[in-house]
Formats: sequence, structure tokens, C-alpha cells
Amino acid sequence: MTRISFEYFPPKTDAQREQFEHAHELLSQLRPEYCSVTFGAGGSTLSYTQEAVLGLQRRHDTQVAPHLSCQGGSVEEIRALLDTYRKAGVRRIVALRGDVPSGMAAAGEFRYACDLVRFIRRETGDQFALDVACYPEFHPECDSPERDMVHFRDKVAAGADGAITQYFFNADAYFRFVDDAARLGVDVPIVPGIMPITNYRQLARFSDMCGAEIPRWLRQRLASFDHDQDADGLRDFGTEVVVKLCERLLAGGAPSLHFYTLNRAAATSRILEALGITPETKAEAS
Ligand SMILES: Cc1cc2nc3c(=O)[nH]c(=O)nc-3n(C[C@H](O)[C@H](O)[C@H](O)COP(=O)(O)OP(=O)(O)OC[C@H]3O[C@@H](n4cnc5c(N)ncnc54)[C@H](O)[C@@H]3O)c2cc1C
Repeated sequence: MTRISFEYFPPKTDAQREQFEHAHELLSQLRPEYCSVTFGAGGSTLSYTQEAVLGLQRRHDTQVAPHLSCQGGSVEEIRALLDTYRKAGVRRIVALRGDVPSGMAAAGEFRYACDLVRFIRRETGDQFALDVACYPEFHPECDSPERDMVHFRDKVAAGADGAITQYFFNADAYFRFVDDAARLGVDVPIVPGIMPITNYRQLARFSDMCGAEIPRWLRQRLASFDHDQDADGLRDFGTEVVVKLCERLLAGGAPSLHFYTLNRAAATSRILEALGITPETKAEAS
């Protein structure tokens, strides 16, 4: 049975908490390997991340993996957070640099994610499984694909157990990235990050920010749906595109799928159902 994991963002308001709880209630029936919770750079959502992680962890129905971004954080803050998570029974962390505010150099005691990975390994040994981020279409700040790959290799060599990709819609970019990483000696699983398509404007905004490409044919098609009048048409088309992408990735050997759920269950569940992954099939397989 295909392994899956889900990513949430930490809710800040009561309405968002309700939406998050509802999404997790439905998605946890799909028995993910783990659920991760994102982290705001510079500590802006630190307490919300912690609250969401500890809340999920208390239920014991899913393994929780907090994202931990080192941008702007001090050694003492990160040490304390690791301690809190360890005591709460967290066993997996997604270790990141975080986004540097535009026009600023990386601040804080950790410059890159590899510094954080090294620090966590030094401080906590093998207590946490560590995942890192990677970019099949390359990180937007990096001026050379080769250098970006070398930085990725070094980050894994610092002690990561696996990597999750930025989302993409071009499976060839993923396969090429995995091959190039293997050639450099990277032998950890590289899990595709999957972004369901439900809202073209939001997707276009995200993609411009994070450097994930929406191919021209897809952009044109998505833009042609009337956002207000034909949300269902866009949703069905988006589901079909992402299901085909997932099928290709799995057929080509992707080790599992990590879904950017945006704290909504419906879009992710629809894709998984089309892939034959439902609460029933998961229950039968376990
Ligand atoms: C799966 C996933 C989850 C994410 N979750 C979050 C989250 O929860 N919170 C959040 O704020 N952001 C999150 N992000 C976004 C991420 O923080 C940004 O993309 C950030 O800009 C880079 O983080 P990183 O950990 O990949 O950084 P790094 O691995 O440090 O890389 C950042 C840049 O520095 C370069 N670099 C790395 N090492 C060196 C070196 N030694 N010398 C010179 N250059 C170097 C790299 O090539 C790259 O261009 C996530 C991204 C992904 C893919």
C-alpha cells in the first residue's frame, strides 16, 4: 500500500482550529505515516506550531513531525524546543532554514538548514528522524543547479534521513533530480511534495513566491475556468492532473507521497480516492 503523509499549517484563530481539527479527523482515517506542521520563519508562528504539534501528539493516533526552521532562531531557543518535543514523544522533525525576508542576509546563529541538521544530530543523537527540504526545480535563491544539488547533498550528509520536495507539476524534473542526487551519493528517500489544485489564483501566488513552476499549458487551462462560476470544473480538472502526476511518480519509484493539505481534507482525499487509497483500503492493508 502506498505510504502517505500530510502537511498542515498551525491554526491561529478558533475558526482555523475548527477547520484543522475537522481536516485531521478525516485525513487521519487514511492512516498517514505521519503528519507534519509547518513553522513560521523568525518565530512568528512558533507558539502556534508548538500548540498544534502538542495537541496532535497528545491524541496518539498519528505520528507528528514539527517543522523547525532555524532562520533567526538562537541555539538556546532551538535547544529548548527540541527538549519540549522530545519530552512530548515527538520522534520526527522536518529541519529547515526558513525564508529570509527579502533584502536581508540570513540572520541568527544558523545560516543554512545543514547547520540545523548538524546541530540536532550533535545535541540529540538519533532521537529524531530528520527530513529536509529539496527542490526539483531548484531553490529560487540559488544561481546554479549544480551548486544547489551539492548543498542538498551536504545537508543530507549532515544527518538527514529523508527529504521532501517542494511541489511541482513536472514529473521529469523530479526523476532527473532523484537521478542527479543518486549520482552525488544521496541515498535517502526523496518524497514528492504534492499540491492539490483547487484555487488557481492562490496556487499562482504561492508558485511565484516559492519558485515552483506551473507549466504554461496548465496555467492557461486553469486560468480559463471562471473562478466564481465554475469552481467545480476547476476542481475536477485539477484533481485529474494531480492524480496523473501521482500515478506517474509512483510508477517511476517515488517512495511515498507527502500532501500539502492546506488544512483541508476534501482535495487531498479526492486525489487519494482516485489512487485507490481510502479509509477502507488502508484498514484492509494494515
Ligand atoms: C517540504 C518543505 C517544507 C517547508 N516548510 C517550511 C516551514 O515550515 N516554514 C518555513 O518558513 N518554510 C518552509 N519551507 C520553505 C523553506 O524554508 C524555504 O524554501 C527556504 O528558503 C529554504 O529552506 P531550506 O531548508 O531548503 O534551506 P537551505 O537548505 O539552507 O537552502 C537555502 C538556500 O541556500 C543555499 N545553500 C545551502 N547551503 C549552502 C552553503 N553551505 N553555502 C551557500 N549556499 C547554501 C541553497 O542552495 C539554497 O539556495 C518548506 C519547504 C519545503 C520544500
